[in-house]
Amino acid sequence: MDEFGIIARYFAPLAGEGAFGLADDTALVPPRPGHDLLVTTDAVAEGTDFFAFDPASAIARKALRVNLSDLAAKGAEPAYYLLNLALPPSVTAAWLEDFAGGLAADQREFGVALLGGDTSRTEGPLSIAITAFGFVPEGRMVRRDGARAGDDIYVTGSIGDSGGGLAIFRREKHSLSEQDRDALTLRYRVPQPPVGFAPRLRAIAHAAIDISDGLVADLGHVAAASGVKLVIEGEALPLSAPLKALWGEKTILRAATAGDDYQIAFTAPPGLAGPFTRIGHVTAGEGVEFRLDGAAIDVPRPGYRHF
Ligand code: ADP
Ligand code: MG
Repeated sequence: MDEFGIIARYFAPLAGEGAFGLADDTALVPPRPGHDLLVTTDAVAEGTDFFAFDPASAIARKALRVNLSDLAAKGAEPAYYLLNLALPPSVTAAWLEDFAGGLAADQREFGVALLGGDTSRTEGPLSIAITAFGFVPEGRMVRRDGARAGDDIYVTGSIGDSGGGLAIFRREKHSLSEQDRDALTLRYRVPQPPVGFAPRLRAIAHAAIDISDGLVADLGHVAAASGVKLVIEGEALPLSAPLKALWGEKTILRAATAGDDYQIAFTAPPGLAGPFTRIGHVTAGEGVEFRLDGAAIDVPRPGYRHF
């Protein structure tokens, strides 16, 4: 099947309003009155962000969800995305069918539609770049630079599960039940960004970031952008039972630096309750201080780095 056959068969059925059935040069997006349009892009590559043996539907969902995570962390509602594929010769019709099925499922789950993309061949590893678009009420994007001394730091969901799943795929020794093992590996394969939390985030957060490289590394970006110091209280981190079963006493530090979480860390006034956990506080100063049992400890490798 050639490029146009692939597009017509697998991707045109996913096309949203304004995409002209993926049969024109551009899509047309009407502005949404009273809203700002937020744009973000993230690519995933075989061997770096997923494994060649992962199900195609899971690869598709990860590629989309890492982008939805960025939008959610800014308080935006996702709307559209563009899909850039570099396909190696090993890709089959069955693979593409499963891949498009994963996208279709997530389109229904998150209310997003495909607007276009590009499809090319590569002799290198499979790579998928998605650009996502979302809307926030005008002026309400939650930025990285709004943290203030006196805020508390909160995080949605649990931290480190995806890193645990990756460790299992990398054959780290463990004695987990099948159920616990699957819970962690699924979090690596299919992130669970808190997309529905965006409106509440907008209402309460002073600053926010999507945790993709590691909690400590990413909160470092908030500290730098906001010109404040972020103090993380290690014991407060939300950790799942399967992860604690995997990593034991090392769980806190490994979870705080593992990456691939696709949860939201944010600062907001103290004393808030909701689908999130308080993990520290903001003071005057700079950088991130990581405390265990009240003592600041050195974190030599705060997160994942590509280079
Ligand atoms: P161009 O010649 O400008 O590169 P293409 O022939 O690549 O255009 O694409 C034709 C149409 O198909 C365009 O609407 C484009 O957005 C869409 N398209 C191509 N690849 C993809 C893809 N992987 N996913 C979604 N739409 C795609
Ligand atoms: Mg093209």
